[in-house]
Amino acid sequence: GQSHSIMLRLVKYLRDQYLLIARDLTQIEKLETTRKDFVANVSHELRTPLTVLTGFVETLKDAPADALTAEQREQYFNMMYQQAQRMEALVSDLLTLSNIETSPSAAFAKVDMDALIEQERQQIEALSAKRHRLEWDITPDLHVYGDRAELASALLNLMTNAVRYTPADGLIKIRWAPEIDGGAKFSVIDNGIGIASEHIPRLSERFYRVDRGRSREVGGTGLGLAIAKHIALRHETALDIQSKLGQGSTFSLIFPPERLVSTDTSKASEET
Ligand code: ADP
Repeated sequence: GQSHSIMLRLVKYLRDQYLLIARDLTQIEKLETTRKDFVANVSHELRTPLTVLTGFVETLKDAPADALTAEQREQYFNMMYQQAQRMEALVSDLLTLSNIETSPSAAFAKVDMDALIEQERQQIEALSAKRHRLEWDITPDLHVYGDRAELASALLNLMTNAVRYTPADGLIKIRWAPEIDGGAKFSVIDNGIGIASEHIPRLSERFYRVDRGRSREVGGTGLGLAIAKHIALRHETALDIQSKLGQGSTFSLIFPPERLVSTDTSKASEET
């Protein structure tokens, strides 16, 4: 009687343990596949510009002195420079991603969001080069608790994408505003090319792009949203994507109330 039920409990226990280990193994296998895919992707992304670059170097090296005009030469150097820049952007994004993933916790402090956005405004205006109408609607004195450099990088990625994926004459609105629940939302609203719904859930995967060719053409590395998503996660903040193909997209970072630094009234009165 009793020894039988002990046996039964033991068998049950062993079975549960086995199931747990089996589940862990599937998890490990999945991670391993992701890692292998990542390495394959990085290699591919680096090899393409490197092949082009090598091709140009060889041509220039082997061409007889008078075979190329000064213009042709300049054109070749421009194209080589472009490829080098592409590799540089990729390596820089990879380093950012690796930094976020390996450093245990970000350096959290009060971040003055309107100053941060203002700081990036020039870069965005330069990238747009007056091709778009940019509207800035930024609430002052709405501070969050976070890592300044990381938030800067997340915001910049979302704004850069809006500029890249919105044709000339498009409208891009950048908003930073409080939410009714006591949180706050940063949003970038564009009326650009938009994204078909089936792609939306996968956009923040590393190297996932709707249109590989177009993304490269506009200077994308395929890592921008992966970086933004990761940073959002570290700030317990949601990255929300709304988009309609052909109509435009809205990318938002939704900060919960806990992330906001409540306005310190005692300090404000001290200053007056
Ligand atoms: P990329 O460097 O290719 O822009 P991201 O990770 O930043 O990489 O974005 C992934 C993909 O999401 C892009 O290749 C593009 O297809 C799509 N995407 C991102 N932002 C927008 C946007 N504002 N409008 C349309 N498509 C976008």
